[in-house]
Amino acid sequence: PLILAIESSCDDTSAAVVEDGRVRSNVTATQAIHVEYGGVVPEHASRAHQRNILPTVSVALRRAERTASELDAVAFTRGPGLIGSLMVGVSFAKALALALDIPLIEVDHMQAHVLAHFAEAPKPDFPFLCLTVSGGHTQLVVVHSALEQEIIGRTIDDAAGEAFDKSGKLIGLPYPAGPELDRLARAGKPTIDFAQPDPGGLDFSFSGLKTSILYTLQKRVEAEPDYVKNNLNDICASVQEAIVATLIRKLVAAAEQTGLHRVALAGGVSANSELRGRLAQEGRKRDWETFVPKIEYCTDNAAMIGVTAAFKYAQGLFTSQAVAPAARF
Ligand code: ATP
Ligand code: FE
Repeated sequence: PLILAIESSCDDTSAAVVEDGRVRSNVTATQAIHVEYGGVVPEHASRAHQRNILPTVSVALRRAERTASELDAVAFTRGPGLIGSLMVGVSFAKALALALDIPLIEVDHMQAHVLAHFAEAPKPDFPFLCLTVSGGHTQLVVVHSALEQEIIGRTIDDAAGEAFDKSGKLIGLPYPAGPELDRLARAGKPTIDFAQPDPGGLDFSFSGLKTSILYTLQKRVEAEPDYVKNNLNDICASVQEAIVATLIRKLVAAAEQTGLHRVALAGGVSANSELRGRLAQEGRKRDWETFVPKIEYCTDNAAMIGVTAAFKYAQGLFTSQAVAPAARF
């Protein structure tokens, strides 16, 4: 089937065309406006989606060399996400499906992050273990099959991406700080031991990291006013180490507990070079088969929505026109 997929859960407007499970196009319009505010402003995000959605869909169809009249279904992100942002994608998808008289397919954004692994080869066999690390979520997931995903661990407070972004903000990096912190950390060494709180089991906690960074840096700035500027690379490497070491420790525990040897990363933070490197390293040591998505499929994108929708189409899982977006599940 030929599926048009729409993703609008946060601040990226994305459209993709997926044909028989294969990605033909994946187009994303990012929103520059949020940089000025140091974070996503929901009202601005909804308005930008409204402006971007039609051109983004048009470009996705054109790049796929397909027309709207050839579509078999329209897929969209139902949630979780910002309600005003989701509303734009959901309403667009409903209107298009109605006009073309084709089925609608709702997609769970977090399931889709995991299934981004099926956008391109190599695709993992089921079951596999996936660490999903994004701006709003941190989850350890046993992926029994495409649509049977069992969450066995999660964050009790901040998400890993949030930890990167808020820590970066503390040291003066622009939003979103994750990618910039990754880049700066490459020229540094993890010389500072920031707190790595552990709520036990397979759960995560990252909110204590901000406090640890704030107090440590305040003390050092008192002694040396330009401390942050003069040690930026080492500070970034230390923040990254605190987050990545925690993620890898829990991932290893989850692999041991479940006995799974196929291990994957997903979500925006899986673009992090240190995390990708450490997964490869653990994988060699423990004889895991490891999987990381291509960078364009890590952060929000509609290709993952289309790929998930293809699994749902195969099972006849369609959605009624009465559907409404859901900020949380
Ligand atoms: P959710 O999927 O939970 O609703 P989201 O969709 O906003 O949240 P994603 O788009 O999956 O999140 O990921 C965005 C997050 O990934 C941001 O927090 C960003 O800083 C982080 N991120 C992106 N690239 C990197 C990187 N190289 N290193 C660390 N963090 C990164
Ligand atoms: Fe996301």
